[in-house]
Amino acid sequence: MLEIKGLRVTLEEEGKEILKGVDLTVEAGKVHAIMGPNGSGKSTLSYVLAGRDGYEVTAGSVTLDGEDVLELEAEERAAAGMFLAFQYPVELPGVGNMTFLRTAMNAQRKARGEDEISAPEFLKMVREKAKALNIDNEMLKRSVNVGFSGGEKKRNEILQMAMLEPRLCILDETDSGLDVDAMRLVADGVNALRSPDRGFLVITHYQRLLDHIRPDVVHIMADGRIVETGGPELALRVETEGYADIAKSVA
Ligand code: ADP
Ligand code: MG
Ligand code: MG
Repeated sequence: MLEIKGLRVTLEEEGKEILKGVDLTVEAGKVHAIMGPNGSGKSTLSYVLAGRDGYEVTAGSVTLDGEDVLELEAEERAAAGMFLAFQYPVELPGVGNMTFLRTAMNAQRKARGEDEISAPEFLKMVREKAKALNIDNEMLKRSVNVGFSGGEKKRNEILQMAMLEPRLCILDETDSGLDVDAMRLVADGVNALRSPDRGFLVITHYQRLLDHIRPDVVHIMADGRIVETGGPELALRVETEGYADIAKSVA
């Protein structure tokens, strides 16, 4: 489904190379985790997949279901079924949460040549999904993420993911100091959305999150490359051995 081949990325401003040849394939129905020490390029990879400005791809390719992702604008990537959740969700003062969700859904539908979701259909869907995530009506009416607690932002992010029903979910939870409750929320959200035609790329510095989201495949990233790939046991090795020892054994 997602295929990354030989991806090399430099920072536009400084010309510093951050990703030095990343190869990664995420199959439909699978949860892939990327772990790695701070500064190894995990967040950079998620930003490049999201289409954020400031990065130059100097080599390699990224395709989603065979379509060239790097050629697409950020909105087109969303329409193609990519969803990205970040450590620090953006606040949108004056934009109601419901309006935001409906606008995002309709933009996605429009790009796919589908009809807009009707108001009653949308309301029914958002109420159902919000209820499952313990999000009350008041939170749905507030401006997107404004004054939300960390846990509320996480819940809101999972709600967006649940509403948009993406093909590929990319979550960057690195260093975010998620408390146990927030971590549970993210994990439950991911687990509830697991399905045979949906893939996940879960980026995390810590093994703890992977106690709750059992990944099918674990990758270790170091210095801009995937240096090791294995099953869930690899995450446990990180916990006991630390990244330094794994890097040494790879070297
Ligand atoms: P990780 O998420 O694995 O901690 P990052 O992708 O955040 O790693 O960072 C990888 C490297 O790129 C680090 O050395 C970081 O300092 C550098 N880097 C990333 N973005 C920028 C930026 N905008 N300006 C300067 N350096 C950056
Ligand atoms: Mg970091
Ligand atoms: Mg990071």
